[in-house]
Amino acid sequence: MGKAVRDRDIWVFVEQHQGEPCSVSLELLGKARQLADKTCWQVVAILAGRDVESLSPVLITSGADLVYLLEHPVLEYYRSDLYPPVIARLIQKYRPAVMLFGASAAGRDLAPSVAALVKTGCAADCCDMELEADGGLLQIVPAFGSQMMATIVTPAHRPQIATVRPGGFSRPAPGSREGRTERIPVELPAGKIRLADAVWEQMQPSSLAAARIVVAGGAGVGSREGWDLLHELADVLRGSLGGSRPALDAGWIEENQMIGQSGCTIRPDLYIAVGISGDIQHMVGVREAKVIVAINNNPLSPVFRQSDYGIVGDYREVVTVLLKSLKRLSKESILGKKKPSYKGF
Ligand SMILES: Cc1cc2nc3c(=O)[nH]c(=O)nc-3n(C[C@H](O)[C@H](O)[C@H](O)COP(=O)(O)OP(=O)(O)OC[C@H]3O[C@@H](n4cnc5c(N)ncnc54)[C@H](O)[C@@H]3O)c2cc1C
Repeated sequence: MGKAVRDRDIWVFVEQHQGEPCSVSLELLGKARQLADKTCWQVVAILAGRDVESLSPVLITSGADLVYLLEHPVLEYYRSDLYPPVIARLIQKYRPAVMLFGASAAGRDLAPSVAALVKTGCAADCCDMELEADGGLLQIVPAFGSQMMATIVTPAHRPQIATVRPGGFSRPAPGSREGRTERIPVELPAGKIRLADAVWEQMQPSSLAAARIVVAGGAGVGSREGWDLLHELADVLRGSLGGSRPALDAGWIEENQMIGQSGCTIRPDLYIAVGISGDIQHMVGVREAKVIVAINNNPLSPVFRQSDYGIVGDYREVVTVLLKSLKRLSKESILGKKKPSYKGF
């Protein structure tokens, strides 16, 4: 494990909020590790902030060989005027082959700004990536309204910069790895360090990304009573509630609960789509779900072609029956009569 070597490093920008690393940064470290292991490259975590050194061990156990630590009070919060030149200067010094950013609000601002400063490309919202033997990064993105997947390459410029949406890759299981941390002096652009005041409003992170069971409603669930049923189903299953674009537009769910191309990507064990037609822009967000169950009153709905189990019927009747069975099962398991099992439906 040596010094950063030109064109042999995959860098991951680690976003942190108040001393906590964002989940997407750990997911990216796990993916970078997989890519680096195939090519004997090195994974470097770029950690910037105020008093954040204590995060280094978790970055190393998540896949980093080396952590570049940039600590300065003015880096406490992400700032569009400071972070891009600081990261660009680091790239110009060490010249990594690849740099990955989470497609969070900060990452979506930082990645293209850095790319412009170091005069390279930026592939936004990649859902997968592969590293070729010659170091070329195949950056796979949904194209034409997610109707197909396109592969973007950056043949003539380095680093190859990409953003990846939260939930796109699994978070690595904590392991025991060794690595080291190197403190990098922060070179701030002249005249830009004064910050009179900062108001920090963090968007509530969605609980969907980590949920093992997700119940989602669509345009077919058109009433308060209907959404109450879905909330109840999610509660009984100890899952989370999400929805499609029309559910958001109608105000039934919050922005961070929308699933799909312009919402979040999830990977639950069980995904229950209620009154959702299965349009590609929605289903691209649940590609990694282990089991998909669809409830829809139209037997020809495309959602059934993409589901493991389909229930044709009015969701109000179906969900009411499901709730009854689930409540009976959980009562029996509490009373010790039966082991809890979904087979009793
Ligand atoms: C660039 C772009 C990005 C987009 N991004 C997203 C995204 O991130 N997420 C997203 O979800 N969408 C997204 N969309 C919108 C997407 O194309 C679809 O319009 C949307 O997903 C459809 O939502 P839906 O399935 O809830 O509604 P609909 O397509 O209207 O389907 C409603 C379904 O409910 C069923 N139904 C009706 N009544 C009942 C009942 N009583 N019981 C059971 N079933 C019933 C119907 O049979 C129908 O299948 C995007 C579109 C574009 C162009």
